[in-house]
Amino acid sequence: MTVKNKVVVITGASSGIGEASAKLLAQNGAKVVLGARRDSRLKEIVSQIKANGGQAAYQTTDVTNPAEVKALVQLAKSEFGGIDVIFNNAGIMPSSPVSALHIDEWNAMIDINLKGVLNGIAAVMPDFTSQKHGQIITTSSVAGLKSFPGAGVYGATKFAVRNLMEVIRMESAQEKTNIRTVTLYPGAINTELLKTISDQQTRSGMDQLYQSVGVGPDAVARVVDFVVDQPEDVDVSEFTVYPTKQG
Ligand code: NDP
Repeated sequence: MTVKNKVVVITGASSGIGEASAKLLAQNGAKVVLGARRDSRLKEIVSQIKANGGQAAYQTTDVTNPAEVKALVQLAKSEFGGIDVIFNNAGIMPSSPVSALHIDEWNAMIDINLKGVLNGIAAVMPDFTSQKHGQIITTSSVAGLKSFPGAGVYGATKFAVRNLMEVIRMESAQEKTNIRTVTLYPGAINTELLKTISDQQTRSGMDQLYQSVGVGPDAVARVVDFVVDQPEDVDVSEFTVYPTKQG
């Protein structure tokens, strides 16, 4: 089974990487189920996908709420008869120096970028275990591979999901459940993510970096499409996507 007809749940699907991935997967025949908080954006994206002949559904979902994430997976099952892939992509990046003590933003990043991913895993694990297949794709970051000043807590959440994905991959091999995991490490991708930065100095540095080197979210969507397209006995477990200009 390739991308065609796979049922793929995507969180953070209302913009950026999630939106681009939903559109490309749907174009290639996947049945996509989109979740995020902004209802009107999801509605618009799903109507665009359907207008192009694709199959899609959506539900307003806050990934910090386990029941809402479960309901999104349930929608995939009721609408399309099952679930093959979850793409844990929702995230925020209110970066700042640790010394600035933006503690509310630290907690929000932990709740969305880490606990939100755990909520996605918990929502699919019973089905994936019983059907003995399933793919969990999670968007980490190059800040989950190496350390950057300003990305102390953001990077901590992204290092954490990297560990989580690798451990699930290893446990799945031990438990013979055939659950595959993929961790994505994007570099500077031009999306709405920088709007989540409240620290003005960090924001202007990031704006400059992204304006000079950033590439569009299709770069990551193509990788998502590639990993979903892999056969069941192959787990492309990690993928780094840098803009060529990013050092
Ligand atoms: P966007 O801001 O365009 O997308 C973020 C998505 O996450 C939006 O759809 C947003 O939707 C959703 N989201 C945020 N909070 C929640 C929540 N509580 N519940 C549900 N959905 C939520 O940025 P990107 O596309 O760039 O970000 C996608 C992922 O890629 C993130 O995990 C980010 O950390 C990661 N990443 C991005 C990089 C980049 O350079 N852009 C680099 C490395 C990693 P809504 O507000 O409607 O809920």
